[in-house]
Amino acid sequence: MFSDALIKEFQTIVGKPNVLQGEADRQAYSYDAAVLEPVVPALAVCPQTSEALGQVVRVCNQNGIPLTPRGSGTNLSGGTIPERGGIVLLTNALNKIIEINTQDLYAVVQPGVVTARFAAEVARQGLFYPPDPGSMAVSTLGGNVAENAGGLRGLKYGVTKDYVMGVDFFDVNGELVKSGSRTVKCVTGLNLSGLQVASEGTLGVFNEIVFKLVPPPAANKAMMAVFDDIDKASETVAAIIAAHIVPCTLEILDHSTIKYVEDYTKAGMPVTAQAILLIEVDGHPVQVAEEAEKVVTLCKKAGAVDVTTARDEAEHNKLWEARRAALPALARARPTTVLEDATVPRSQIPAMIRAINTIAQKHQLDVGTFGHAGDGNLHPTFLCDRRDAKEFERVEQAVDEIFDVALSLKGTLSGEHGIGLAKAKWLEKETSAATIAYAKALKKAVDPKGILNPGKIIGG
Ligand SMILES: Cc1cc2nc3c(=O)[nH]c(=O)nc-3n(C[C@H](O)[C@H](O)[C@H](O)COP(=O)(O)OP(=O)(O)OC[C@H]3O[C@@H](n4cnc5c(N)ncnc54)[C@H](O)[C@@H]3O)c2cc1C
Repeated sequence: MFSDALIKEFQTIVGKPNVLQGEADRQAYSYDAAVLEPVVPALAVCPQTSEALGQVVRVCNQNGIPLTPRGSGTNLSGGTIPERGGIVLLTNALNKIIEINTQDLYAVVQPGVVTARFAAEVARQGLFYPPDPGSMAVSTLGGNVAENAGGLRGLKYGVTKDYVMGVDFFDVNGELVKSGSRTVKCVTGLNLSGLQVASEGTLGVFNEIVFKLVPPPAANKAMMAVFDDIDKASETVAAIIAAHIVPCTLEILDHSTIKYVEDYTKAGMPVTAQAILLIEVDGHPVQVAEEAEKVVTLCKKAGAVDVTTARDEAEHNKLWEARRAALPALARARPTTVLEDATVPRSQIPAMIRAINTIAQKHQLDVGTFGHAGDGNLHPTFLCDRRDAKEFERVEQAVDEIFDVALSLKGTLSGEHGIGLAKAKWLEKETSAATIAYAKALKKAVDPKGILNPGKIIGG
């Protein structure tokens, strides 16, 4: 518990209504989108200005109080669970789009800006911000940078890190550290902005972020290819890339996911299919037409039993609604949804999907797999009930085995959901003892008391 004097100090900095002490408020910030035990913070503090944000960090450090920065709490790895108690530092009020520069193609934002609002505002100014996590209607840009969020457009356009030009952040003493610039090129000093990307709030608290913007594509075309064999779908992914076509989006849904999506949306999905690929190409209209034709040919050659091309915007949207419905559709089936993030080199997708299904069968679990096939990033999603301890143990065992397979296929623990608390125990398996020691030394140097989101990524 905090002393009255300390609570008063926070109230003076952020204003009394912005220090949340009530039981309901504290419970609300005890968990995030990961299926992990909640931990209730002592307080949630919501600075309304940059100055206040820095001062809260300073006071926490002076008093040895752990702080957990939080955007919208949609992360899937326990990154905002205040494992060591202390305060949850809410960034949502810092939600200004400070500048959209249409001449030099960058934007400056505060960390609490919601991703979809930013993308829409950028589009209104005739530009394009490509990173599009499935959670973008609620996730914040600060959370996106701290997790290096990906999305459906990763294959062609990259992920959040590819758009970060600069991050100004508060160090643990509440001092503002400036890094990066508004120029296309910048090699002035260490790449501290790069260090903040995917740092999950463990190395600093973002105050302002500079993002690169790009011109929007002039045209696009979406297609759905239906397969009676998931291996053929995976081989098609490889064939498209081998033909030097880089779709902006190349997604896969397996049989189980298709069935759940149809049950949810009644959109006429091919429920007997073993897999579908949803593919979109974009760019100059002539190139788009050519590439779309080639994609259809490649899909048919690789054994697709049906290929549909969206003829208008309504059909285009219908295809993507099916993809967007994948997680909500699966999540309706059982009380608990464990969404995983195994990522392998693209060529290993068939092996990974086969392994996921074998592991699920072995543990008698219901799983649906979908994901960014073009990036080798699969989301095996276990449908279970956490209250059934035996079933949940089997899910944990299955997840362990899935990561073992992903690593044996030269994949990675996390393509986009981060490490947080959920995956910390596997980190050394993918990296090395020296990697962890280096990361711990870095953390110790910038945050000697372990104030900034302690326990995440590297534990400690
Ligand atoms: C339905 C659903 C779909 C999703 N789809 C995707 C997807 O397609 N791609 C993907 O990559 N992820 C996806 N996610 C995961 C999640 O949305 C992303 O990780 C997102 O970037 C988190 O943003 P947030 O604002 O919710 O951050 P939070 O969950 O609040 O925080 C995430 C991390 O950022 C840190 N942080 C937040 N703000 C700051 C700050 N100002 N300074 C320093 N650190 C900070 C936190 O401490 C925490 O470690 C999905 C999640 C859900 C629930």
